[in-house]
Order: sequence, then C-alpha cells, then structure tokens
Amino acid sequence: MQKKDLKALVEEIYENLLERIDANEHATKEQVINYLKDAVDIVSNIDSTKIDSIEHAKEAFNNKYKEIVNQTLISYEYTNEKFEQLTLQHEKVLSDCINEQIDLPTLTSKFNEIQSHMTQEIEKANEIISELTTKVKVLEETTNLDALTKVFNRRALDSYLSDVCSNTSIPFNLHVLMLDIDNFKIINDEYGHITGDKILIFISNTLRKTLRDGDKIFRFGGEEFTIVLNRNTDEECELIANRLLTLISSNRLLYMGQKISVTASIGFTRLVKDDIPDSLLSRADKAMYFSKHNGKNQVSKVFE
Ligand code: GH3
Ligand code: MG
Ligand code: MG
Repeated sequence: MQKKDLKALVEEIYENLLERIDANEHATKEQVINYLKDAVDIVSNIDSTKIDSIEHAKEAFNNKYKEIVNQTLISYEYTNEKFEQLTLQHEKVLSDCINEQIDLPTLTSKFNEIQSHMTQEIEKANEIISELTTKVKVLEETTNLDALTKVFNRRALDSYLSDVCSNTSIPFNLHVLMLDIDNFKIINDEYGHITGDKILIFISNTLRKTLRDGDKIFRFGGEEFTIVLNRNTDEECELIANRLLTLISSNRLLYMGQKISVTASIGFTRLVKDDIPDSLLSRADKAMYFSKHNGKNQVSKVFE
C-alpha cells in the first residue's frame, strides 16, 4: 500500500467518524473509542498484498462500517428500556390514585407529562432509525465485498467479468472456477446455520491463503464461490483446483468435539475469444455439475 493510499484511508475514517458523531445526538466517548478500535482492526487486517489500491481498502472499510451501523440499531433497545420506566411511572400514578383521593387536575397533568415524554422518545427513535436505514441501504448498494466472508460479491464479479470479456487482448490464459460446497443443506440441518456461516468463512479464508496475488475470489451466492485465476496452463489450473479441494476436505473444523466433514465440487473453464460473462460462467457451472453428478469432491473441466 502506498503512503498516499494510507493517508486517504485515514481521511476516510476521520470523515466517517465525524459523520457518525454528527448523526448521533448523544455520542459518547465510549462509542468513539469503540469506533476507533474497529477502524484500527480494519486497517491492521488489510492485507496489502491482496488489496492493492485505495479503492479496495475503502471497500473493506465501508463494509465494516455497515456492520457498525447495524450494531447501532441494537442500541435502540435503550428506547425500550425508557418505555418500561415510563410504564412503571404510569402504573405508580394509577396506584397512587387508588390509595389517595383522586385529584383530577394533578392526574391529568401527570398523564400529559408521561404522554409527552413518550412522544419525544418515539420521534427521536424514528428519526435515528430512518437515518440509519438509509445509511445501510446506501452502503449495501455501493459495497463490492460480501459482508460475511469478506471476499468480493456478485456485483463485483459481474463488473469484473464484463471488463475481462470486453478486453479482447488479454495476453495470457484466464480460468474461471466455480466452487460449490457439497451437501451444505445437510450440514446446516445437522450443525445449525451459525456453524454453516463459519464454514463459509473457513472456505473463503482457505481460498484467500492459498491463491496468488492477482487471483480473484468472489462469493457467487449462497454456498458457491467463483475464482478467477490468470497466467496458468489448463493443467496448472486443475492442480490448483485439486489442491483447494484437499485443503477443504482436510479441515479441522469441530462441532462439540466432533469433526465436521466438509467437501466441495469444482468446475472450471478457460476464457476464449467472443466469450461474454454468461457463456464463461455457464461453462464453469456445467463443469461443476459434472463434478456433482460424478460423486462430488472432485474437479471437472469444460472448454467448449
Ligand atoms: P449439493 O451437494 O448438491 O451442492 O447440495 P447442497 O445441499 O450443498 O445444495 P442445496 O442447493 O440443496 O443447498 C444449499 C444450502 O446452502 C441451502 C441453504 O440454506 C444454504 N445456504 C445458502 N447460503 C447460506 C448462508 O449464507 N449461510 C448458511 N449457513 N447457509 C447457507
Ligand atoms: Mg449450490
Ligand atoms: Mg452445494
């Protein structure tokens, strides 16, 4: 990462922090500290060999920011607590009325007071919730990274493949691999969705650690990943794909002390002249289905 990229990233964090303080009427020191801690985490986790430009670094930051905004929504449990307190006050006024002589003007003014507190709380909460909802929507529409696995998302894949296919003079081989986890529905049913999510993260990390600079990893959707490799022969590509499957199947994932068996199937193809994103993806997909059909946990290829 270049010095100018680092400076731009710090500026981005600074601007986001100020925006966040402005948006939150009751911003506390703890919230600012937590935000800065998150920012430090993000920056220290940026792998400068994989993220080679400020645009990618910003993308990673924005993605994390989305999580933070989502977490902030949870803080609105606070409003609920306030309501509980007001309800208690309400009950107390009622029980005072039973114990004492009813004084109508005092009673009316007490209820009016409670009513106005409630209305204020609702207005405040609504304002902040609608602001946060808009922020989450904007971030979702602009991010290129998948929130769970932190690899590129489907939108990034579509844009990357259209660039690749419109560039008629790529001077090297480019392979597209489609990887689909085997029997993932059963895994989810047996170990739960949260374990399923952890497996998706494990697979993304395995891909990230194993592949080279310049190779691209995307979450195609659900339990499917698309990988773009460049500068390999068909044989090298097949070796890489098999290596990935070995790493996945020899995982050490445990659930309550019991080993979870995870495998995946891969299909791959090579970019040819006149390819469009759909033709490229559908060949890789066809190859992946051969792997499924032939017993899963294997690699297949389709070139035409
Ligand atoms: P196959 O070996 O033929 O690929 O079978 P499969 O069970 O993997 O495929 P299927 O398409 O029947 O089921 C995919 C499952 O993936 C169903 C869905 O609940 C699960 N899934 C998709 N996205 C996620 C996710 O983000 N988290 C979790 N935990 N599960 C997911
Ligand atoms: Mg699938
Ligand atoms: Mg599957």
